[in-house]
Amino acid sequence: MLHIRVLVLHVIFFIGVFSLCAMSSKSKLQEFSDMDISACASSCGLPSHVDLSGGKYPIQRSEEEWLERLSEQQYHVAREQGTERPFENLYHDSKKIGLYRCIGCDTPLFTSMDKFDSGTGWPSFTRPIDNRTLGETRDTSYGMVRVEVHCNVCGSHQGHVFPDGPEPTGKRYCINSASLRLEEAESPKMVGTLVESWYLD
Ligand SMILES: [Zn+2]
Repeated sequence: MLHIRVLVLHVIFFIGVFSLCAMSSKSKLQEFSDMDISACASSCGLPSHVDLSGGKYPIQRSEEEWLERLSEQQYHVAREQGTERPFENLYHDSKKIGLYRCIGCDTPLFTSMDKFDSGTGWPSFTRPIDNRTLGETRDTSYGMVRVEVHCNVCGSHQGHVFPDGPEPTGKRYCINSASLRLEEAESPKMVGTLVESWYLD
């Protein structure tokens, strides 16, 4: 009799543990698929090789290295503050799900979930993944006052940010395709995983 009672208690215990595990993995999954990638990235510590406190870009390359890594067009835009032609660039109308990395150093800068069709002919985003990795500089070239944006990890020029974007930020990050490399993903959740893996590096 005692033996049966112990057996029943064991069964109840294991069912309980199993249910708790199933519940916790389900809630974790739910949390991750609903997560805001920007908020998550901004609260993460930067990878160990990315120290932004020194006043110079953590990734430095010689001119030869840049020329070897980048195409002529990419070099002109990213390293000489150039601008590519509207509508004649790789990602201006791309609707693919994925992560846009810096062409100069692979840092994740934007996601397809923040991309919108601005009608300008350049890829446009409402926000970067992380304000720490996308730097801003006042740009007074061509007689205009604009805010230039660049990768804070390697210094590569990305484009400009304007205060006329859609919700939720009201900002329009107008970026050159030549400064980006799209890494496609199956789902927004997979984009989150790619971003997370860069931060955990
Ligand atoms: Zn970079």
